[in-house]
Amino acid sequence: MYTFEEIIGNEWIIKQIQYAIEKKHISHAYVIQGQQGMGKKLLANTIAKTLQCQRGGITPCNECISCRTFDTKNHTDVFYVSPQKKKVLGVEDVREQIIENMQIKQYQSPFKIFIVEKADTMTQAAQNALLKTLEEPPDYGILLLLTSNMDALLPTILSRCVVWKLRPLSAHAVEGYLLQKHMAQKEEAAVFAEYAQGSIGKAIEIASSEAFSAMREDVTAKICSLQQKNLSDVLFMAKELEVYKENQQFLDLIYLWYRDVLAYKKCNDIKYIIQKDKKHHIMQQAKQEQEDAIAEKINAVWQAKQQLAVNGNFQLTMEVMLMKLKESSSNDRNCRDTF
Ligand SMILES: [Zn+2]
Repeated sequence: MYTFEEIIGNEWIIKQIQYAIEKKHISHAYVIQGQQGMGKKLLANTIAKTLQCQRGGITPCNECISCRTFDTKNHTDVFYVSPQKKKVLGVEDVREQIIENMQIKQYQSPFKIFIVEKADTMTQAAQNALLKTLEEPPDYGILLLLTSNMDALLPTILSRCVVWKLRPLSAHAVEGYLLQKHMAQKEEAAVFAEYAQGSIGKAIEIASSEAFSAMREDVTAKICSLQQKNLSDVLFMAKELEVYKENQQFLDLIYLWYRDVLAYKKCNDIKYIIQKDKKHHIMQQAKQEQEDAIAEKINAVWQAKQQLAVNGNFQLTMEVMLMKLKESSSNDRNCRDTF
């Protein structure tokens, strides 16, 4: 069921949309921009359902035939545009699914709505093919272009669309959502929310992923044990991390770990620890280390992220990062000498 009440955050955009619907100032083309999992599709679906609702209000009635068929994903005048043959939306896709279809008038609905889910995959030629439709759309035609990357859209496309940029939610709002939907326990919810960086979709994915929980346990156990390791153990650990080579989210977990250690070191108060389920280990590590050393570790993780982002060698990057984490992890001279 798609309703505006379901959408968390971005209230200002929703108000604008509802105002436009109320005043019947509907544009023929909108761009909805936001990172993955931020609710672009939910918003687009809710707009489409509202515009097609037979009662014509600023929110779907959920009772008319239009609303009910929309909820079963069988609405005859709402179309989802996606690549048919390749991973990108080419000229053929745009021509067959949008341009030609839009020329045929709808039967009963007030509009004919096209939702392009990954508009940033439109080729330049496909975007150029769409221009004429954007310049002279039929009265009933509405295009909703969803994108996580505005730069991929031509200025000529953007200049003909109303652009709405979704903002990330606060960690507190995401945490509240997970708790409200019983998707996580209190302590976990705070971690998932922080990790999701304002994206409800990402938070839901993490909360329901056993793989994420397993990775988190594994990575934090490795980081906690670093101080007891010698050089060959550390090099072996770098090799073990190869299992996460395709999913470099584990670096964010390490980053979050040291962020918690530093926060506790500075404030000596557990309320500033995000990963409260690991608070004893975090407090212990904070006691063993100097503030500067923790800051150096955070920097080492950041540098590793940067290195991998430019296709640096995974194994070498991990070795260097782990050695830096180990190097500054203790003031104990003997521990350093194991290198
Ligand atoms: Zn309705």
